[in-house]
Amino acid sequence: MVLSKIGSESDVSVHSTFASRYVRHSLPRSKMGENSMPKDAAYQIINDELMLDGNPRLNLASFVTTWMEPECNKLMMDSINKNYVDMDEYPVTTDLQNRCVNIIANLFNAPLEDGEAGVGVGTVGSSEAIMLAGLAFKRKWQNRRRAEGKPFDKPNIVTGANVQVCWEKFANYFEVELKEVKLREGYYVMDPVKAVELVDENTICVAAILGSTLNGEFEDVKLLNDLLLEKNKLTGWDTSIHVDAASGGFIAPFLYPELEWDFRLPLVKSINVSGHKYGLVYAGIGWIIWRNKEDLPEELIFHINYLGADQPTFTLNFSKGSSQIIAQYYQLIRLGYEGYKNIMENCHENAMVLKEGLESTGRFNIVSKDNGVPLVAFSLKDNLRYNEFEISDMLKRFGWIVPAYTMPPDAQHVTVLRVVIRQDFSRTLAERLVIDINKVIKQLDALPRNSLLIKVELSGEEKPKRTPLEIQKDITDTWKKFVMAKKPKLVC
Ligand SMILES: *Cc1c(COP(=O)(O)O)cnc(C)c1O
Repeated sequence: MVLSKIGSESDVSVHSTFASRYVRHSLPRSKMGENSMPKDAAYQIINDELMLDGNPRLNLASFVTTWMEPECNKLMMDSINKNYVDMDEYPVTTDLQNRCVNIIANLFNAPLEDGEAGVGVGTVGSSEAIMLAGLAFKRKWQNRRRAEGKPFDKPNIVTGANVQVCWEKFANYFEVELKEVKLREGYYVMDPVKAVELVDENTICVAAILGSTLNGEFEDVKLLNDLLLEKNKLTGWDTSIHVDAASGGFIAPFLYPELEWDFRLPLVKSINVSGHKYGLVYAGIGWIIWRNKEDLPEELIFHINYLGADQPTFTLNFSKGSSQIIAQYYQLIRLGYEGYKNIMENCHENAMVLKEGLESTGRFNIVSKDNGVPLVAFSLKDNLRYNEFEISDMLKRFGWIVPAYTMPPDAQHVTVLRVVIRQDFSRTLAERLVIDINKVIKQLDALPRNSLLIKVELSGEEKPKRTPLEIQKDITDTWKKFVMAKKPKLVC
């Protein structure tokens, strides 16, 4: 008896984790376990299960940073126990955030006097930044309407149908009608002419995207600005612009410094950017910058004093980590203009290598633009035999995560595959991906016709007058239903 007791104690302290009882039982999934377990066993078991997640470096679906320098990783780990909101206790961290705001405001050409502070705040990502920007527009519009003695209960916002889901969230959560400009085949961004047509007296702002999530294309903010100026003059309204530069805000200043999309345009009142996309920081940081103090209504700013001195805050969450803010400052000073420019140029060149590789297969139409966010979006020229979703599926076998998705209205019949080029996606990986896509095409060419597609085509025989476009729509719909039934949305 004594022996077995010793045996069970040594189970914990001496035996390897894999010989212990902790790996012999299933882990709690819904109810907390009765007893504790040793830390090394907990670590090992969770770590092992996580091996089945995809490799973030091969996740070509995401814009979000997956690699940082070891020095910065160290800085982040060193500050992981700092709650950002304790600004009085961590004045240096607060100051680093303010320096980031100033640097980004200047990068976006905010009209600041020498030494004047930028107006903005660090957020968890562009989604939070967009909620804050939208709230500022809504409040300003309401205040104006109230002062004019006009109704202020039906605010709307004008965007393209290509907006990222966070705009739909903003509209839903904060009760603003979303008026979307429809897309069409071959044109996948907001048409500024149509956007301005949708503007009415209840429009709180027009949101333009610098770097559409779907194909990386920059919307024409300058044209939008000019058309809106004209409309404002005619109507006496004061509609202005927000630029969602989540992905493009750290691209355009380095690759296309002449492009006027930012505070150089008078109607641009606020801009958001994701620090965790091409700002080159791991997930958890975004920025919202306003043109002037007047563009951020004072009544939205809360002043708290329970942590020490008076602290102004305008965020949705109270507590959050400091590491991402510190990491953003690291990247800004470590890389400087030169460093960001080199990285963005490299990403762009790798995107071009991939694009040319895809074109040389003769099978794809490229639906991204050369001068947008460095990504390649492409669709099959002929998707009657097999579909983009199937290519996406097959590429997983090589370890690549390449999403396939359908375009929003009115281009739902178009399916695209999208590869986002991040700084850690090297030329060698780009070349390798082309090789693997070629292999996938060969394999798919050799397969017998897919029974799913045959069914779609046969069902068409009863309706012989379908145009090729209608057939394509049916096939896309069928695939979409088939694929969506078995996997979560991948585009982010
Ligand atoms: C990624 C993205 C967002 C959302 O940004 P998060 O930082 O992930 O919250 C919003 N708009 C556009 C255009 C994006 O690409």
